Amino acid sequence: MTYRGRFAPSPTGQLHFGSLVAAVGSWLCARHANGQWLLRMEDIDPPREVAGAAASILATLPAFGLVADAPTLFQSQRKAAYDAAFEQLRTADLVFPCTCSRSELAASGGIHRDGRCVKPARPERTPAWRLRVPDVEVTFDDALQGPQGENLRELVGDFVIRRADGFYSYQLACVVDDAYQGITEVVRGHDLLDSTARQIWLQRCLGLPTPAYRHLPVVLDADGNKLSKSAQAWPIDPADPTPTLRRALAFLQRPLPTLVTDVDGLLAHALIAFEPALLPQCSGNSFA
Ligand code: GLU
Repeated sequence: MTYRGRFAPSPTGQLHFGSLVAAVGSWLCARHANGQWLLRMEDIDPPREVAGAAASILATLPAFGLVADAPTLFQSQRKAAYDAAFEQLRTADLVFPCTCSRSELAASGGIHRDGRCVKPARPERTPAWRLRVPDVEVTFDDALQGPQGENLRELVGDFVIRRADGFYSYQLACVVDDAYQGITEVVRGHDLLDSTARQIWLQRCLGLPTPAYRHLPVVLDADGNKLSKSAQAWPIDPADPTPTLRRALAFLQRPLPTLVTDVDGLLAHALIAFEPALLPQCSGNSFA
């Protein structure tokens, strides 16, 4: 089977150094495997979107030598596929409507369990839809972080897959599209490690294959906080990509040639003797 990796940014801001590291890490794994590297724009949350961010991200990646092997998949154009997955879950009685507000939920410990709402249904409110989560331990082997296990009922409870405003959750859209794009390995930041059990459970509910997972360390600022696009942290300059790409490769512990000064040369050099198992393992690294 051909290896297929992907980078799946959300357009909540410009590409920043932390997301560049995830892009480079997933690109290296795909190229090392002689596989394909795909792009997916996760533009399914208009309230959190920043105007122009999607176009800016897509223009920035090639400046760093990161060119996808297929046209970008835009989640904003995939509603019919999410509707179909939702109907499949509804038909199987795996979801239920919930009109509890966030504060009502918080007051009762913040977790829904056993398909039971905190408050009786209020027909005047548009419901969110939650997936019924059984008392089951979801386990998987992360290629970098080792064996993982999560009891979804204990830790997450019945989670939202369609919000009251009608938008589908990241978890549902991600699972549907990883399968649609034929992704064989998901390489992404460690901050998404705890979404993985939910995604594997959804894959089982929908009868979709489970890819391999490899979670990279996230880049932390000097205070130990994750760099985040929405905080506009560390924007990167596509007009002068080489210094930033060198830093991203250094973060991923790839040896850096002193004489190479162009992005394609740096990426090609990073692939020499590259082994995905040599990527750094810790959950986060300060890199100020
Ligand atoms: N869209 C997510 C983000 O930008 C990443 C999703 C994923 O890689 O699964 O944080």
